[in-house]
Formats: sequence, C-alpha cells, structure tokens
Amino acid sequence: MPVAFISNSDCGRHDTGWGHPEHVGRLRAIPRALRDHPELFHALLHVEGRHATIDELALAHDSGYVDRVRVVAEVGGGHLDPDTVASSGSWAAATAAVGCVLDAVDMAVDGRATRSFCAVRPPGHHALRARAMGFCLFGSVAVAAHYARARHGLERVLIVDWDVHHGNGTQALVERERDIHFVSMHQWPWYPGTGAAEDRGPNRTIWNVPMPAGLPAQRYVTAFIAAVDAATADWTPDLVLVSAGYDSLAGDPLGGFTLELSDVDRMTREMTARADSWCGGLLVAVLEGGYVPERLGQACVVTMEGLGARD
Ligand SMILES: [Zn+2]
Repeated sequence: MPVAFISNSDCGRHDTGWGHPEHVGRLRAIPRALRDHPELFHALLHVEGRHATIDELALAHDSGYVDRVRVVAEVGGGHLDPDTVASSGSWAAATAAVGCVLDAVDMAVDGRATRSFCAVRPPGHHALRARAMGFCLFGSVAVAAHYARARHGLERVLIVDWDVHHGNGTQALVERERDIHFVSMHQWPWYPGTGAAEDRGPNRTIWNVPMPAGLPAQRYVTAFIAAVDAATADWTPDLVLVSAGYDSLAGDPLGGFTLELSDVDRMTREMTARADSWCGGLLVAVLEGGYVPERLGQACVVTMEGLGARD
C-alpha cells in the first residue's frame, strides 16, 4: 500500500510578503529534499489535492468568517490578524490546504492510501472558529476530523500535534466533541500562551503537554508518546491525524525545542505502529510550522519514510 504525497500548486499562491517566515519556499523545499531520495519519490503516490468547499469549511468555522476570508482575497488581500496576511491567492491556497487533507481522509477510508502526507500551506492549527491567527486561516486538521465523522461515519478521531506551538485553534475547534481526542506538545511559556496541562477542555478530551525550551530531545519524545498513550488508554481511534510542525526541530527561529531528524523518525514510527494496532493504520500527517526550509524538507522526507514503514 503506497503512502500518498498530497499537495496542490495553489498552496504556493498564499503570498505573505517579503521577509515573512511562512513563505512558499517552505513547500518548495520538500520536492527538493525528495530528489535526494529517488526510491522514496517513486514509491509515493503523488496526488494533486482538491479545494475544500464552503460547506466543508463550515464543519468547523463560522460561515461569516469563511466569507470574509474569501472577500479579503478577492479585493487583493489584507491583514486578517497582526501576523496573518491574505493575498489575492490566499483563498485558493487556504481552501486547497484543507482540501488536500480531506482528500487524504477519503483515500484512507476508501483504501487508496492508508497513510498520507499533506504538504500544504497556509498552516492551520492556530485558526479559530471565526478568526485567523498565527499564520493560519482555516483549521485543516480540525475540519478533517469533523469531516471524517460527518462524511464517512468514523466515530473516534485522534489528533496529535508536535509543532512547537500550542494547537490552540485545533483545540478550540474540536474540544466540544467527546469523540475527538487532541494531544498537543508545545513550548511553554511561548506563543500563543495557551495550552496549560490543566486545560483539559470541557470534556477532558484534551491532553496538553507544555514543555520548557532547551531540554534533551529524548525528553520531548518521551513526553509526547506518554500523552498519546494517556489519550488512548481506554479509547481506540478510528483515524489518526498528525499536525506535523517542524519548528520543534533544533535551530528553528520560532522555537526552542531540540528535536533532530532521528526524533521525527521515532515519533512518526511510534504513531504509525499505534495506528496499525488501532485502526488498520489509517493516518494522515499534515504540515504545520517549520521555518528553516531545508530542515523542513528533510523532516518531511523522514516522516514519509516512517509512514511507509511496516514492522
Ligand atoms: Zn508552530
């Protein structure tokens, strides 16, 4: 069974302006890194993802907000939040970012690709129900979790987030749903300032793992896996979604974690093995942050290799 590599060229049309860390070069680094791994490149199922519809975005977002993003892009762009801009191409980019993840869910469920990696931007895990935030317009992973339940009748969805920042948007968009569990490991204190361990959400379905910067990498991996196991102790997911942010790697300008590629490999393989035992391996990994393009490209390659691994 191949691993799908899903993207859409429209993701490059979200123009954040000169000097912004979340730029199209992040995505371009991924095929560049793949060129050094021809065997993996040829083994992947390359898919051009679709655009999410307005109704699909409304599974997690306020429809007035969805319309506002569309209109801001239509008039040529503007600021949606102090650090989140939209350009004329941002509607196409943001709907493609979500659509790629929805395609990945479809392909997992219908058996075309049990596992996928979605190389998308803008990222999604800070986007709130009615507000853009932290470079994010729509909560791709959160929309996909609701979509998997509504469209495919999957009952339980696990979301794990190893981006260095708290997935506050994802939490806000899923915490009312008892059968979506969310695990976020993130630097603390750090942007966006949420994600305390005591914040378990209204239904205690949230596992926040705040961690100081600069620890030995193993500490992060161990804490992350422990939280995943706590979140699934007496609850077995039907689908696993991974918010794969690579700003948790050592040297990222927007984070102080110390992960190396070997740690990304370990976390990917731990999640892959668990998905195999829980739900026939159904797992969709989605790019979030990561602001050193070359490192990001290498980390995506390591993740895709790990997704293809079989014990
Ligand atoms: Zn981040």
